[in-house]
Amino acid sequence: MSMASKVLSCDKCEDSTNTFILHQNLRYSFKNTDVQISKGLGYCHDCESLRVIEDFDNFAHHIKQIHECSRLAIKKARRFLWVNFSPKMMKWNASPAQELTSHAYFLAIALKRKGDERCLSCLSSNITKFNGDMNLHYGMAGCYEGRKRTGFYHPGCGGEYIVSGSEIRFILSREPSYFNIDDDWQITEV
Ligand SMILES: [Zn+2]
Ligand SMILES: [Zn+2]
Repeated sequence: MSMASKVLSCDKCEDSTNTFILHQNLRYSFKNTDVQISKGLGYCHDCESLRVIEDFDNFAHHIKQIHECSRLAIKKARRFLWVNFSPKMMKWNASPAQELTSHAYFLAIALKRKGDERCLSCLSSNITKFNGDMNLHYGMAGCYEGRKRTGFYHPGCGGEYIVSGSEIRFILSREPSYFNIDDDWQITEV
């Protein structure tokens, strides 16, 4: 499946980033569990460009998912009492519980790591979260259309990032890239 993208370019210098980077499949490996990384866009002062960064502001989604997984786990556990055991059934029954663990770990990581968000290219904490407006109209051709100012200024340069629709659609690899979280809640690249 290909994905529409946008380009963010500074109106004063050459810096330019395509938003397809936000769709990379980035995951934490934490206590042998695969945990989705909640990510956003930010300016990394070490990479000197816009990068994907850790972003722990979206708690609501994970709390909602925990609620949904618990509901499913209870429902499946009830039904489990009425059916015969089979390896397939055991696996089916375990999936909401595994997902529940993954969302719970996300919250644990977010609570510990909030305030120490990192650039996911170089792991620097010297970052500024992108808080500009990059909404664009999604056209009939399956691409974003138009161009506008985002209100986010290039740190150290002073230029403003302009967002515009890109005619290029990207095919992304779903192959995940992993980051380790150790017992001190530090993040390292695998
Ligand atoms: Zn600039
Ligand atoms: Zn960086």
